[in-house]
Amino acid sequence: MRRFVLISVLLVLAACSNDQSSQQTSSESAPTSAAPAANVDGARIVAANAEPGNWMTYGRTYGEDHYSPLDQITTENAKQLGLAWHFDIPDARGLEVTPIVVDGVMYTTGNYNVLYALDAKTGEELWSYDPQVRRDWGRYSCCGTINRGPAVWKGKVYEGTLDGRLIAVDAKTGKLVWETQTTDPKKALSITGAPRIIKDKVLIGAGGAEFGVRGYISAYDAETGKQIWRFYTVPGDPSKGFENKAMEMAAKTWTGDRWWKTGGGGTVWDSMSYDPDLNLLYFGTGNGSEWARELRSPKGGDNLFLTSIVAVDADTGKYVWHFQEVPADQWDYDACQQMVLADLVIDGKQRKVLMQAAKDGYFYILDRTNGQFISATPFVKTNWNNGIDPKTGRPDVSKTALYGSKEASVVWPGPLGAHDWQSMSFDPRSGLVYFSAQDQGFAYSFDPNWKHKEMQWNLAQSPDAKTPPEAAQITYRGYLYAWDPIAGKPVWTVDYDDMWNGGVLATAGNIVAQGTADGRFIVYRSDNGQKLWETPAQTAVMAGPISYLADGEQYIAVAAGWGGSVPLLGGGMTPVHSGNNRILVYKLGGTAKLPPMPPAPAIPNQPPVNAPPEMIAKGGALYDRYCSNCHGIGVISGGMIPDLRHMRHEVHQSFVNIVLNGTRMRKGMAAFGDILDEKDAEAIHAYIISVAHETEN
Ligand code: CA
Repeated sequence: MRRFVLISVLLVLAACSNDQSSQQTSSESAPTSAAPAANVDGARIVAANAEPGNWMTYGRTYGEDHYSPLDQITTENAKQLGLAWHFDIPDARGLEVTPIVVDGVMYTTGNYNVLYALDAKTGEELWSYDPQVRRDWGRYSCCGTINRGPAVWKGKVYEGTLDGRLIAVDAKTGKLVWETQTTDPKKALSITGAPRIIKDKVLIGAGGAEFGVRGYISAYDAETGKQIWRFYTVPGDPSKGFENKAMEMAAKTWTGDRWWKTGGGGTVWDSMSYDPDLNLLYFGTGNGSEWARELRSPKGGDNLFLTSIVAVDADTGKYVWHFQEVPADQWDYDACQQMVLADLVIDGKQRKVLMQAAKDGYFYILDRTNGQFISATPFVKTNWNNGIDPKTGRPDVSKTALYGSKEASVVWPGPLGAHDWQSMSFDPRSGLVYFSAQDQGFAYSFDPNWKHKEMQWNLAQSPDAKTPPEAAQITYRGYLYAWDPIAGKPVWTVDYDDMWNGGVLATAGNIVAQGTADGRFIVYRSDNGQKLWETPAQTAVMAGPISYLADGEQYIAVAAGWGGSVPLLGGGMTPVHSGNNRILVYKLGGTAKLPPMPPAPAIPNQPPVNAPPEMIAKGGALYDRYCSNCHGIGVISGGMIPDLRHMRHEVHQSFVNIVLNGTRMRKGMAAFGDILDEKDAEAIHAYIISVAHETEN
């Protein structure tokens, strides 16, 4: 036993030879040991580099570098990687989760927020907990029934649920300790982000700006679930007074009265970082509700704090500074991408910076002590501004981007973003940042007569606007960048045919790991981008990988599964199979095998088209509005939800009942009887049958 401990200590020491610390313990290599489960506190996370065998918080460190100091897997031996184990997640709706690993146990989430504790060495399930998320809540959430994972603290595992609860579960037993509703269930708010925990406070926001809600982030007592503070990101009804000085300031940047009636937006749906020395919590805020400023704030204004990075005191939630990337955002440029905190030498000066590869196509560097702008460099095709003020960081928004109601404008990037929630990794040895990026444009327009509809999509885009010819030239491409933040350019780039590739992990073994939309998991050399190894994942990989030690051996784990926002739009964008949602775990010399791919199901014959053209046209408009967000644009499913062109006879028979009355609620199909009637459902049915015949091959 002593020999075992000694060997594991040596391995850990070898693994972090770049680290000066000598506080390593053997605890990270002892699966299911006598150590208390998930016994993580702030001191351990602050000193995360001293125990590189664990991955104790979403970005591994409070600065969210998403980098592993482990170096057993190297450029030389990466070709010996193989599957160590896999864990099947019994749903097919995609995985965006970053698992947590503490002392030999992996904590992860699946769809509908089912939590799992797994032996990190073998993948054996220790317990699972199903919080019974409302299966129809996907209707009130923009981007599927996904989530980005749990957090751990002092023996408990935490997660935010799609239907707005924050829950705490005993890390040893998987039993519920407490749960708190963090949202108003009468609003289309949903949690998809992973909580972060600072000084016994669990931080969580919620999404929903596409529906029309008021954004906020809150802190809850980790022990009891009691709310400690809440910071709203847009002001409420001015006649009721403002919650704080920051809201009073923000209110001066809004006009009219629609924003507070409809919510305004600015949701805090993903990224957070924390600087323990400054005690500042940073978070990104989302787009406005509706997308067009003319509707939500008709006489102009910057609309604070939409599409901003905001810093607050972590103890009190009190405003400290903000930087608005996109004043009056009209393009869904949520500034919610991960923010990496690092210390960089810029123009000869050591700066404490915050870095973000933003959805708007720019790589931002800010001084995180005060929010001062340092630089913004485009990393994909952009046309929404004519330039960014080098002193203030304020963009000069281009005329092209200011879309109207009669004619659409093609703007790059579009609402799918140049980079989204996919984690990026900062390698402190080289100073390079690795992230997934993509080129895509979108034809924006707005409906001047849009009436806000509670609990429904409120993008207020106009389907009747004229589409300009350049819309036909919109293309999609994906990239992996090794980005030099100081030079403001990539050191190397990998081109992908598909967009929406996975998050990235860099390690001290001089490797970078990333999964792809076309269903591969790949390891590159971090200094030059040379491909060292790849393996089929049997489905697309969107999530970011992690690395950890179990019994002194280095593992790389990633959640595989296609689903969520872009995949749901479908359109045949990706050729990979879905339905194989798994945690995939690799190690040197791993010999496990994935089961063979299941055969593609037979496509049943579809009934004949016998509806009149006007009924089919009506059904098409209704489909676009109410169905396409999940079942795919043009009735081409992304694969994680049934492709309606292939319905079986009995589904055709009960189509109207399923749509109006929610008879398949347990499978995630919501009831739409509150907004559609029988004739509407029949028209949608007729449209789907006609598309099934058009696309038959
Ligand atoms: Ca958004």
